Amino acid sequence: MATYRLGILKGDDIGLEIVPVCVKIMSTAVEKYPGIRIEWTDLPIGMTAFRECGETLPSGTLERLSELDGWILGPIGHMAYPKNDPKVVNPHPILRRNFDLMSNIRPARSYATVPSIHKDVDLVIVRENNEGFQPDRNVFKGQAEFMPTPDMAMSLRVITRRNSDFVTRTACELARQRNGKKRVTAIHKNTVFKLGCGLFIDTCREAAKDYPDITFDTLVVDTFAMHLVMRPQAFDVIVTTNMFGDILSDEAAGIVGGLGMAPGLSVGPSYVMAQATHGSAPDIAGKHIANPYAMIMSGQMMLGWLGAKAGDEEAVLAAADIEAGVAQILAEMSDVTPDLGGRASTEAMGEAICRAIRSI
Ligand code: NAD
Repeated sequence: MATYRLGILKGDDIGLEIVPVCVKIMSTAVEKYPGIRIEWTDLPIGMTAFRECGETLPSGTLERLSELDGWILGPIGHMAYPKNDPKVVNPHPILRRNFDLMSNIRPARSYATVPSIHKDVDLVIVRENNEGFQPDRNVFKGQAEFMPTPDMAMSLRVITRRNSDFVTRTACELARQRNGKKRVTAIHKNTVFKLGCGLFIDTCREAAKDYPDITFDTLVVDTFAMHLVMRPQAFDVIVTTNMFGDILSDEAAGIVGGLGMAPGLSVGPSYVMAQATHGSAPDIAGKHIANPYAMIMSGQMMLGWLGAKAGDEEAVLAAADIEAGVAQILAEMSDVTPDLGGRASTEAMGEAICRAIRSI
């Protein structure tokens, strides 16, 4: 029996509603397969943790996470956190950095029934997660952003061969697993950032040589941004640096129906973290109308990723069942949340997906 040790970090606001739905759906999917089980560990994070333990990221949570295979992280409403308290930190960049989660995988998929700018889109953006321009995680100590004078701000960008290599390999492995075009497109701007983007793209080219079955090509970021809007169907897997990927993945989400439809998975050599792209949506928190799709599909990706890594066919099948159950509910559109045009609560949409999974 394969046991997956997974953490539950509900996060803030709508996280308290969508994370339990994701857990229930993953548990329902694995129940069908006798050779796998999930051992769940509920851990405090965010404002709930602050109220219970006086810290938004308790050291006990970090220690327990290191004993697990992966975890679900609900959205974090850090903009509303109390300021200037060292015990109040934004946990998710720390988790990405602490657990060396270098690749952030963000799929964008259109569904026939979900209103979207384009149809027949099925692409994935793999974004480097821990360096680039992000000053809260791209240096060991201090901040890679500073103001030499009151009228001047400087932000430093970090690109390393190690992380560029890792994200390219993540993208190539994904392209191999997917039923797609078997193509990886690396996005850069080496026409201007000759050293930073130059190192990134040279490393991508070198790593891609180990995947002769995958077509590898490159595009300059501004050209790609235009192609993504005009013909997103042309792409399969995209790999890029942190800031470009951050922006382009939201653009891709906008093309297929918005942030509620944007799941995400952060992976490193040892750990994996399922985290939807959207925020904690305080405007709808407590109303039970949040769309759980992005959170559910983030958990689905985590199960599929762990299964593929372990060569565990049952975990891969359970992940495929979640994907099929979600697709069925989206095809019928009778049990979906208001943002998708339905009247179902977050929990009712989750129940409908569980029923669909059991019937597959
Ligand atoms: P947001 O993504 O939370 O919300 C933007 C809009 O989208 C809101 O109208 C919200 O109701 C809607 N929305 C988001 N998720 C939805 C869902 N699942 N179903 C239906 N509607 C949904 O962005 P924001 O309002 O700018 O940020 C709110 C908080 O979230 C802030 O504290 C911000 O810092 C934080 N944030 C966290 C993350 C993260 O944890 N990954 C990402 C972005 C923002």
